[in-house]
Formats: sequence, structure tokens, C-alpha cells
Amino acid sequence: MLELTNPALLRTQSYINGQWINADSGATFEVTDPATGKVVAAVSDLGADETRRAIEAAAAAWPAWRDTPVKERAKILRRWYDLVIANTDDLARILTAEQGKPLSEAKTEIVYSASYIEWFSEEAKRAYGDVIAPPARDRRIVVIKQPVGVTCSITPWNFPCAMIARKMAPALAAGCPFIAKPAQETPLSALALAVLAEEAGIPAGIFNIVAGENAPAIGAEMTSNPLVRKFTFTGSTAVGKLLQAQCAQTMKKTSMELGGNAPFIVFDDAQLDEAVKGAIISKYRNAGQTCVCANRILVQEGVYEAFASQFTAAVKNLTLGNGFDGHTDLGPMITAKAVNKVESLVEDALQKGAQALVAGGPSSLGDCFYAPVVLGDVTDQMNLFTEEIFGPVAPLYKFSTEEEAVRMANDSKFGLASYFYSRDIGRISRVAEGLEYGMVGINEGIISNEMAPFGGVKESGQGREGSKYGIGDYLEIKYLCLGGI
Ligand code: ADP
Repeated sequence: MLELTNPALLRTQSYINGQWINADSGATFEVTDPATGKVVAAVSDLGADETRRAIEAAAAAWPAWRDTPVKERAKILRRWYDLVIANTDDLARILTAEQGKPLSEAKTEIVYSASYIEWFSEEAKRAYGDVIAPPARDRRIVVIKQPVGVTCSITPWNFPCAMIARKMAPALAAGCPFIAKPAQETPLSALALAVLAEEAGIPAGIFNIVAGENAPAIGAEMTSNPLVRKFTFTGSTAVGKLLQAQCAQTMKKTSMELGGNAPFIVFDDAQLDEAVKGAIISKYRNAGQTCVCANRILVQEGVYEAFASQFTAAVKNLTLGNGFDGHTDLGPMITAKAVNKVESLVEDALQKGAQALVAGGPSSLGDCFYAPVVLGDVTDQMNLFTEEIFGPVAPLYKFSTEEEAVRMANDSKFGLASYFYSRDIGRISRVAEGLEYGMVGINEGIISNEMAPFGGVKESGQGREGSKYGIGDYLEIKYLCLGGI
């Protein structure tokens, strides 16, 4: 049994219209700890009917929330932020139990999640309109911004709390009611957020969680119901495309945070120690299961050997283990299936001539554990050049010129995060402008925070989360033409 200071945070029912409810069918699904395989909780398994009721409740609750003065909405969100921070330890324990990440990373995720609630509680007050010069003297052009309306989200298991917070906080701040479907692997930290939403005074129907195993059924209701005006998704590109197509039938506004294939470029003039540190954190955080993880490490030939040897030494120092163990740097992967997928990418690369600089691989610690791997002499002919690895495997590629590095980096259908290390100001400008990515880390391996716009181009999606731009995804622009003046 998971030990918590506040056991009331561990919920197995869903939260709809201010009520904790069970599935109509009475069915449940199990959430297991990937480190031990043990059941953490049996969660009520909701489906399309309950989702429809949540949408209807949100639509009914919307006018009062929309018309609540923004200062009041901001205060309620601020209270929610304070409660999340006050409960960081318990929330992090729930997160590690359902997801596996080291407890220190789980705490970081909770504080990061809270930072979006804090930020958008402040930004809520700054959703300004415009007054525009008119074409005729007897007219005025005024632009106001209004909440888009009922918003639904579907989010993945890799950051189960933060991915919801990044969407829900701007939606509520803008004046939209919100319904979240967390990933079936990790619904518990989301349900805990709802406990604190209730305590903070978020009105009934404004924040709802529908947990269920049948994602396609819940997703179909969310994307087809005409009451839903905005749909926001984080997950794989394949599922994102499907949901985007479903939303097209009722022309919903959408935001899509999809897959990545991040290049991490180390130039000859890089500060090597810093580049190694950045590559380790970018690659191995959350056991390599983030959409902004370094997926292809491109190293210029003059520093290739030195970088490979320092990087390999650092990887050998990483400790694999249960996330609750204080020494653990790398927890389990989410499922045994995820382990198998990563292993098949490594086998393909080895067969095609890659060198195992750190052998790693499946571990005796359990089905979901995979020890870190470093591969040298990787080429663009290997599957892991084009595919998102989503696991603790670092492939090293060698390049000779700046042009070659940028060309290799852009040789992908994805365009989410990219990174490069250089101390040359001219090169920094050229490469930063040349990379076809929504985000560029320059001499930095960790770039995400609530004050900056997170998002991708190409098949990595559309929309931005965080920053002053993030709230715009939840607002409609209305033009008022004042005549007869
Ligand atoms: P991942 O590989 O990270 O699990 P997915 O895109 O499969 O990425 O899953 C992300 C989220 O999308 C999860 O909440 C999952 O339940 C949901 N999902 C998966 N398939 C569908 C679908 N066909 N319709 C709606 N939601 C889906």
C-alpha cells in the first residue's frame, strides 16, 4: 500500500461535475507499478456515456465560469497552485508508483506542473484585446478575446501530471471548462489533482477527469460531440492525426503536441564537459521517455572520440533501479512492450554495423527495466535515425561540416526540440535559424519551463503550451465593428 501523508489524494473514481463517480458498468482496470508489477489501485473504468455526461455538465457550467471576473478566476487558480505545492511529496509518490520515474524527477514534475497553474493564473488577466484604426471616420474597430468553450484533452503516461496541467491551466484561466482523459497507465496523479481542484474552489463542472481503458471510445465522444469547441492532445503522431481528422467533422479548434526526433549536435568548438552533461540529462531523463529527448546525437569528427569516451564514462555511472530508491538515476520503462520496441531498434542498429559502446539492454531487475545503451558509428540507414526511440538508448553519429549537421538534423518528418553546442556566435546564429524545429536548446539540454512556448512544427504538431502565447490557444478573437459614430 502506498504510504501518503494525505491518503485522500489516492482516488479510484472519476471526477465529473463536482462528484466522484463510478463507471455505469461497475468495471475497473488495474494500475500497476512498472518497477514491481504490483497493483497500485483498481480504477473505475468509464466510457463514452460518462464522457458525454461530463461534456454536458461542462457546457452547463460554462457561462458562470466565463462570466466570473478574471481576477476571481485567477485567485481560485492561485489557491490550486498553492495546494499542489503543499502536497508535492504525496503527489510525487503517487506519480512514481504509477509511472516509475525516480522520486526526485517526480517532485520536479509536480513543481513544474504547478508552475503552469501559477503562470496562467497571472496571464489570465492579460488576455488583452485591440483597438484598430478604422478605414472610415464613422467607424471603430474593436477586438475582444473570449474563451473558446468546452475543452477536452487526452494526454500520455510519460508526464501524467504536467501534460494535463499545461493544457488545463490556460483553459481554465481563459474561462473554458475542461475535461481530461489521462492515460490508462497513469490516471492516479490526475485524479489527485482533481481532489485539490475541489479544495481550491474550482466550481463543479469546470474541471473534470474521465478515467477509462477504452481510449478510442472516450476519444470518439470528445472529438465528435458538437458541445466540445476545443480538443488538445499530447501523444504519438499516429494517434494525433487520427484525432485531428475526427475533430475536422465539427471543425474543432485543436492543439497537437506529437512525436519528436530531436537532434543533439556537438560542434568541434563546444565546451565538451557541458555538452556531455547536457546530453546525459536530455537523453536519460525519464528513462529516455520524453518527446524532447535527444534522439540523434551528432558529433563533429574533431571531437567525436573525446565526446564518445566522456559520454560513455558518464553513462556507465548511471544507476538503474526502483524510483523509490534514493540512488536511482533511471527508473523502469512504462511497460515490457516499450522495452521490446527499444530492444528491436538496438538490434537493427547492431546488425547494420553500429558499435555497442555501452551494452546495457534488458535487465534482471524486472520486465520493464532496460539498462542504458550507447551506440557508436550509427548511420542514417538504421531505423533509429528516423524513429523516436523513447527509451534509454543514445546513438552517436559522426559528421564533418556545419552544413552536413544541419542537413542531417532536418532530415526528419518531425520538428519538436533540437539542441546544439557551440561557442561561436556566428555559427550559433546560422544553425539556430537553419534548424526546422519549434524549439532550439543552445548550450542547454533542458529547455522546458512555463514561461517559454513549447511546441513543434512539421509532424510534431501545432499550437504552443506555456508562455504568453499559450493562452491564445483557448481564446477566440471577436471583431466588433462600431458604426454610425
Ligand atoms: P503513447 O505511445 O505515448 O502511449 P499514444 O498516442 O498511444 O502514445 O497515447 C497517448 C494518449 O492517447 C493516451 O491517453 C492513450 O490512451 C490515448 N489514445 C491512444 N489511442 C487512442 C485513440 N484511438 N483514440 C483516442 N485516444 C487514444
